[in-house]
Amino acid sequence: MSGLGSAFDVLASFEKREHAMPAVFVGHGSPMNAIEDNEVSRGWARVGAALPSPSAILCVSAHWQTRGVMVTAVDRPRTIHDFSGFPEALHRAAYPAPGSPELARITRHQVTSATVGLDGDWGLDHGAWSVLLRMFPRADVPVVQLSLDATREPGWHYDMARELRGLRERGVLVLGSGNIVHNLGRLDRRSANAGFDWAVEFDARVKGLIDAGDHRALVEYERLGRAARLSVPTNEHYLPLLYALAVKAEAEPVAYFNEATVMGSISMRSLVIG
Ligand code: ZN
Repeated sequence: MSGLGSAFDVLASFEKREHAMPAVFVGHGSPMNAIEDNEVSRGWARVGAALPSPSAILCVSAHWQTRGVMVTAVDRPRTIHDFSGFPEALHRAAYPAPGSPELARITRHQVTSATVGLDGDWGLDHGAWSVLLRMFPRADVPVVQLSLDATREPGWHYDMARELRGLRERGVLVLGSGNIVHNLGRLDRRSANAGFDWAVEFDARVKGLIDAGDHRALVEYERLGRAARLSVPTNEHYLPLLYALAVKAEAEPVAYFNEATVMGSISMRSLVIG
């Protein structure tokens, strides 16, 4: 397809809007939130219903890590059950939203600092669909996933994600899905609704830095000491937060929801930007 052709595609489906689409980061936690009626899933439903209708969703999930950055370019993304040991009902759950090869191409054009590869195999992993099933239960908004390049540093992710800002003006919902605090090795199932001191501390620290607009400190989270090391032992669940923050305009407000630390070492803190 010629460059001119894809420019016309943009006009057809992703017209410029007066107000930029909000951006969202969700703490996804257990895949069971997809099918359980609980405070977390009700929070997702409430926020989904309150958002303007998106033209499409670009989701950055903790659960798609690649070498090089990829974007899904399929018409019908499959529901990927990338977990085991959960009830049959969860393994049967599906999210039949359409894809958008058009948004995949636009995203590829939008990012100039890296080559974004078009992927025809990945679908929707549970970081994406478990949340979307509750946020947009009609599954009628096209969804595209952007992978996390596992070979890159946090600062690279943040800088690259800034190039996605323009998508919001085209009505695209940029959705990061991970967890600010995520340490499965320290999980304590007896503490269903509580967090370890270090988990609560890091979650509050991150909120304070978001409120202060100190994105640099959030990118350089490894300098934040013991609580950070315990809360982010590997950063795939933390990085999606940086994608949501990177598309934020300076003056935009941030509203929090699902502010809870659960099972000792998981923060469900989620936020809407704009
Ligand atoms: Zn996860």
